[in-house]
Amino acid sequence: MLSDLRTVHPPASRLPEVNFDDLGFGNIFSDHMFSLRYDDGRWHTPEVLPYGPIEVEPSCVTLHYGQSVFEGLKAFRGHDERIRLFRPDMNFQRLARSCERLCIPALPEQYFYEGIEALVRLDHKWIPSKRGQSLYVRPIIIGTEGLLEVRPGREFRFMIMTAPVRAYFDASASAIGLKVEERFTRAAPGGTGVAKTAGNYAASLYPGECARDEGYAQVLWLDGVEHRYVEEVGAMNIFFRIGGKVVTPELRGTILHGVTRDSVITLLRDAGEPVEERRIAIDELVEGIRNGEVTEAFGAGTAAIIAPVGKIAYKDDVVTINNGEAGPLTQDLYDQITRIQLGETNDLHGWNRVVALEA
Ligand SMILES: *Cc1c(COP(=O)(O)O)cnc(C)c1O
Repeated sequence: MLSDLRTVHPPASRLPEVNFDDLGFGNIFSDHMFSLRYDDGRWHTPEVLPYGPIEVEPSCVTLHYGQSVFEGLKAFRGHDERIRLFRPDMNFQRLARSCERLCIPALPEQYFYEGIEALVRLDHKWIPSKRGQSLYVRPIIIGTEGLLEVRPGREFRFMIMTAPVRAYFDASASAIGLKVEERFTRAAPGGTGVAKTAGNYAASLYPGECARDEGYAQVLWLDGVEHRYVEEVGAMNIFFRIGGKVVTPELRGTILHGVTRDSVITLLRDAGEPVEERRIAIDELVEGIRNGEVTEAFGAGTAAIIAPVGKIAYKDDVVTINNGEAGPLTQDLYDQITRIQLGETNDLHGWNRVVALEA
């Protein structure tokens, strides 16, 4: 469908400059990016361009009013040398919901998949092969109209960039510490918490910095009404093992529908492990950690996949979970998801989308 895709290559690949033993997260980008424009009521001109600066007007609506949405997914290289995208259909559906909330016109599905696949094919040498590393894929849609009046823009640009990224999970490293946020909130009922949009992240920066100043890796967000129920951690969904059951906050409109969250729940239910989606009061949680009922905690999100939580600070209390180490279920879920992503085990639910290198 995009066989006529206009492609402009950079004068030289930057790949030889990349040290794959020292990758960060989204600080270096592969040679190409995908671009698609919207104006006059339609999406047009799909093209692949060298990754690099773009021009927008200083009055661009995204810069002033944050009319933008994004996604995050990963491409993996297996031992069989096949390239797999993990559950891109979930990302597309979420992008569609985010677009609706931000008054951004719906993106035709074909551009999402074919844009990603064209990039992965062109820059396949950028996909790392060390276990845990991957090619992070970042689609974004920004309003590009220059307009200071507050109304939805009428011009947009969809772009996709890719970045080789490091492994996050390291069972030998200690689990992360979280600070329960009592002053600030990430999302309120009726707000944009359920959309993957820039403004949610802008609002989270200051609380995140305060937590880091106090020595905590991330914020544990509570609900915006009572500051009583656990919602999310940083940019991950959160899970607890309480009395043998796995529990995660239910989706009530303020929590992002994580692809990793859904994958964890599905894998646990496949194994006959009960998973409860319900409200979790912070008092109940801290008490459960203190009396030993809560035996594991972990965050779930595309970047880290699974991030063990070893410490939670609430009011004047600091409680430790599983001696501050990754628990057995946490480790097992990380291993299971990684094996599926690398094609080392049966992909029972058809989550992987294999990208053929020859189009
Ligand atoms: C992206 C994101 C997540 C994780 O979602 P995944 O699809 O698993 O990557 C969780 N919370 C927030 C706020 C996010 O933006």
